[in-house]
Amino acid sequence: MRGREPLFVSCTPKGCLELLKRSGVALAGKTAAVVGRSNIVGLPVALLLQNADATVTMVHSRTPDAAGVVRGADIVIAACGRAEMVKGDWIKPGAVVIDVGINAVDDAAAKRGYRLVGDVDFAGASTVAAAITPVPGGVGPMTIAMLLQNTLEGAKRQIGGGR
Ligand code: NAP
Repeated sequence: MRGREPLFVSCTPKGCLELLKRSGVALAGKTAAVVGRSNIVGLPVALLLQNADATVTMVHSRTPDAAGVVRGADIVIAACGRAEMVKGDWIKPGAVVIDVGINAVDDAAAKRGYRLVGDVDFAGASTVAAAITPVPGGVGPMTIAMLLQNTLEGAKRQIGGGR
């Protein structure tokens, strides 16, 4: 939150911001739509985007026109736990899309009988987005990397005796 300096930032939201930062995506003055408002993903990622001076709209299950909100966004973070809900025609051309979702869908052709998909229809969205994260292999590994970073920071603090 603005005006606060947390000891640790939640791993998945932190990973989303790190992906944007390392990809050179400017956030200040941009519009962002966060689909989902959970305490572990949607809410903290919205606060982090706001801290980075984006104008953020949050979408949840009672939002009447989720597609319309997403269509207005330069940056889309999808974290609703609904397989491929965010369609390609929801995405503004040139928008940057971070897909947090991990959903198992039945797939008789797959060895395990299912495959993992995100909350975004990757095939459709990737034709209009400037950049988009895959599922699997996008936010998931970043979450693990941020967990390790938080662990390292925690250890350094303990050894250094700092905050
Ligand atoms: P959650 O606690 O189930 O929250 C889902 C959110 O999406 C809720 O705020 C819900 O709205 C909203 N929502 C559900 N259906 C919707 C709809 N039809 N339209 C608009 N909003 C809708 O889920 P979560 O824990 O935040 O996780 C979200 C997704 O991210 C899941 O697929 C999960 O597996 C994945 N995830 C991935 C990682 C990773 O490392 N990649 C980490 C954590 C989670 P309401 O509040 O109104 O119910």
